[in-house]
Amino acid sequence: MSVLDQVDPDVSSIIAAEQRRQHAKIRLIPSENYVSHAVLEATGSILTNKYSEGYTGDRYYEGQQQIDKIEQLAIDRARSLFGAEHINVQPYSGSPANQAVYVALANPGDTVMGLSLAHGGHLTHGAGVSISGLHYKAVQYGVNESTGYLDYDEIERLATECQPKLIFCGTTAYPRVLDFERFAAIGKKVGAFVIADIAHISGLVAAGVHPSPVGHVDVVTTTTHKSLRGPRGGMIMCRAQFADAIDKAVFPGLQGGPHNHTTAALAVALKEADTAEFRAYAQAIVDNAKALGQALVERGFGVVSGGTDNHLLLVDMTNKGVTGNQMSKALDAAGIVCNYNLVPGDPRSARRPSGIRLGTPSITSRGFGGDQMIQLADWMDEIAQIRADESIDRDSRREAYRRVAGEVRDLCDRFPAPGLDIA
Ligand SMILES: *Cc1c(COP(=O)(O)O)cnc(C)c1O
Repeated sequence: MSVLDQVDPDVSSIIAAEQRRQHAKIRLIPSENYVSHAVLEATGSILTNKYSEGYTGDRYYEGQQQIDKIEQLAIDRARSLFGAEHINVQPYSGSPANQAVYVALANPGDTVMGLSLAHGGHLTHGAGVSISGLHYKAVQYGVNESTGYLDYDEIERLATECQPKLIFCGTTAYPRVLDFERFAAIGKKVGAFVIADIAHISGLVAAGVHPSPVGHVDVVTTTTHKSLRGPRGGMIMCRAQFADAIDKAVFPGLQGGPHNHTTAALAVALKEADTAEFRAYAQAIVDNAKALGQALVERGFGVVSGGTDNHLLLVDMTNKGVTGNQMSKALDAAGIVCNYNLVPGDPRSARRPSGIRLGTPSITSRGFGGDQMIQLADWMDEIAQIRADESIDRDSRREAYRRVAGEVRDLCDRFPAPGLDIA
């Protein structure tokens, strides 16, 4: 029995059940992953006990002998991995990292540009329900609805017309390579700061399987827990000229004390990411996504843009006769976990959209390869057909989902995920 079992069996049993779920299901949400035991150990360390407002060598509290070392180590490792001039590892997560950029480089009421949520952008890039859309004059660009690709000429036209202070490039549901050089050129032309938000793809960028924005754009923000496979957190990388403004925006502008246990776990993850093993992992993420996309296309799925260059796929379920919600719920019952998602030009609503979003970082962490992608596409095809068939009654449907969930579990038993303690 663990200490947690004894002190709080309620919490302990919920964590144990979630661990069994993470083991027994095929997890396809592209922003999720499995961190290593080492990252978990640092995250759960006594560094959570320490307050350290300020930055290395310049703190508002005493007793920073070890904390300064851990923060500097994380910064040094991030610099050697990404090559940025200045790095701030204190943002609590991806959204606060973006918020800090607004605070550092713009004023409320300024015009800002970002990819619309409906076309794969993030809430923090100017969506109406977020502070970024409420406090700034947000202009949203989109993808070409027939190709699914970003239309850079159109982005340039829009930027020239509305003269934004900031241009965000970065996505949560876009399966193609981002042309950071082109974004930087557009920013230069219209006098805007360009921010690359690589939250989803920072692991791919670190490994060199997606081009890096560092050196092209002014500021790079990222989460640390998606393809980078670190603890939940955020990070900002920028040109030296913005260092002061960014640091002041994070602290004292937006935050108090940094989460030192997270900083330590980030240092561990950055060490893990700077290995040949991680580079092979990142390449395998992309290989798996391409293989899954190909297998789905062959089975008649409406894969947006026809495939992928990165870790994710956007699939329009319309021609399979089901909605995104129906498909994601049916898949969940069958042990395959994804999320429903708008597709470009979606005639349906955000809560009941046409598509689903699939990502390969988690399944690649547990060692899935090409054969498993074919198996996955077969299961998805079977589930879609069962869900769409009006002649099948509810109970038979449930029965079929349960059978697939059993097969999924058998496969998962053969591929234990990192960081889990499954007896
Ligand atoms: C996930 C994500 C974020 C936000 O990260 P949180 O840690 O959830 O706040 C920001 N930008 C993009 C592009 C993302 O995908």
